[in-house]
Amino acid sequence: MAARSRAAEELNPFRIAQIQLDRAMPHVNGKAGVLANMRHPERVLKIQFPVSMDDGSIQIFTGFRVQHNGARGPFKGGIRYHPGVTEDEVKALAAWMTWKTAVMDIPFGGAKGGVICDPKHLSTDEKRRITRRYVAQLGGALGPMVDIPAPDVYTDETTMAWIFDTFDMTHKGQNNLPVVTGKPLALGGSYGRASATARGALVCVEEAIGRGLVPGVKTLSEARVAVQGFGNAGAHFARLAAAGGARIVAATDSTGGVAAAKGLDLTRLDAHKAKTGSVGGLRGAGKISNEELLECDCDVLVPAALENQITRRNAARVRAKLVAEAANGPTTPEADDILHRRGVVVVPDILCNGGGVTVSYYEWVQNLQDEQWDEATVNAKLRRKMVKSFHEVFDIAARLQVDPRIAAYVLALERVAAVTELRGIWP
Ligand code: NAD
Repeated sequence: MAARSRAAEELNPFRIAQIQLDRAMPHVNGKAGVLANMRHPERVLKIQFPVSMDDGSIQIFTGFRVQHNGARGPFKGGIRYHPGVTEDEVKALAAWMTWKTAVMDIPFGGAKGGVICDPKHLSTDEKRRITRRYVAQLGGALGPMVDIPAPDVYTDETTMAWIFDTFDMTHKGQNNLPVVTGKPLALGGSYGRASATARGALVCVEEAIGRGLVPGVKTLSEARVAVQGFGNAGAHFARLAAAGGARIVAATDSTGGVAAAKGLDLTRLDAHKAKTGSVGGLRGAGKISNEELLECDCDVLVPAALENQITRRNAARVRAKLVAEAANGPTTPEADDILHRRGVVVVPDILCNGGGVTVSYYEWVQNLQDEQWDEATVNAKLRRKMVKSFHEVFDIAARLQVDPRIAAYVLALERVAAVTELRGIWP
């Protein structure tokens, strides 16, 4: 009865983004009107478009591009292809990009895009036609100094190459490479971009261990790590963490999962995923579901898939001491409270996965200067940025006695507010 009378948990990502912002507001210096303006996006584009499918039929798709806040620079954010994309999800992801670019202190605003589609049931040609039509129909909303997309769930460097090409076909006579990041290396991509999100998240885990935030774990090589989602962010994280000596005790993707208390052999797991399309079923490893992974016996839990994975239903059973949010929005506000009360430290998404957009910024700078930096240069610059932002956030958390997500929001909101006030309210 008590459970029934309790209000349902808020799972709408945009409402969650607003709740997170509201929690930080009392700690933020800034004019009330400037801060209130940050609760909503500047611009929401919703488009519908037809695409010719391989079987000769015509299918109608819905796409979004949300530009949340451009006070600190051109809009920046990935494009997601997924059947579950909604306007509110894209609005939340766009807002999180504004806070992320501010936490990382790179001169971009925040945006995000999405197309409602199921890439697992689309051919390469169909994905290319969807991408080209989506970009063409967004028209002047995108541009190297206006709004710069990047990869997100189920889009990759090939998708980014099509975005560049589509834009370039209609904007001849200028350098269009900086219109999109996460491109293939041969087409203006940056060394280190593919692994940047994971590399940045791993720096956060190492710094958290160094700060004594993971009881019983003194170095990365003592850490037992569970990774949910084995795509760009998750698989790179697992590989890098394993290379640094950590034990990957569990990994899942959308089709299944594997566990091994002694640690998974990442080389074999990669080969198995490449062959079968799934991490599940690796010989010699146990079976684990996504739900079980979140509650498994580990030191560091890395959600690297989708939103709303750690909720009030399972937060009390999370056994990890550190949650490193490689994904955007994996933890609900109610789960945040439960984890914080239990002493589980959460490295929030707007810090933890900021490595991706940071190297996207480096790619944009290289494109503007017609340069290509070597991988060691990119990785060293990324590490310095991550370490700086990590300690800025955790110093604020310690000073204000708030959880790290609120601290990251305080840092971001103050940076966006300061720039907005310096620019003055137009006109
Ligand atoms: P991706 O498409 O490369 O990989 C997604 C992975 O998640 C796949 O392995 C898929 O099988 C798995 N997955 C999907 N649904 C799942 C489910 N219900 N349970 C478990 N696993 C599931 O995507 P990505 O780029 O790695 O993005 C993953 C997360 O990281 C997203 O939240 C994204 O917003 C965030 N992120 C990505 C980047 C980037 O640079 N790619 C940057 C910042 C944040």
